[in-house]
Amino acid sequence: MPTLDPQRPLGRRTLLQRNKAGPRRVPRIGPACRDHRICVVLCPEGALVGFELEGRRGVALRLRDCTGCGHCLAACPEHAITLEARPEASAALLPLTAHEPRICEHCFEPFVGGPEALRCPACEKDANLFRARRASGSAPLVRSDFDQGERT
Ligand code: SF4
Repeated sequence: MPTLDPQRPLGRRTLLQRNKAGPRRVPRIGPACRDHRICVVLCPEGALVGFELEGRRGVALRLRDCTGCGHCLAACPEHAITLEARPEASAALLPLTAHEPRICEHCFEPFVGGPEALRCPACEKDANLFRARRASGSAPLVRSDFDQGERT
């Protein structure tokens, strides 16, 4: 009889059987989600789907297709995903998040952020880099919008 190697990931069929036999465990996405959608890209079953509807954007789950493998949980950079027991296995899409995007004050692109965030993650990263360069004395001679914004 084959033994289970803890280092080796379980196959799809085993995961589906385990999910059918015991309590089904499927992802739940908490408020820390910033809609990067890495989970949508990495889900090996295509069970997670990104959607945009009536000005809101988010991620939905097709319960039937989820094997409970936990790849999405491991991939989330915000640690927003947990697995929770959910008995039904419907083919309908279950919305897990529904964000109302805001407009970045720097690049004017829509983004999803916490209540305190004014800039999208890319612009926030640029601003942090600029601050770090200025603190180390190697900031560019031409002041950027970030520099002007911080002085006013
Ligand atoms: S637990 Fe696995 S199958 Fe289910 S949504 Fe996450 S990555 Fe996809």
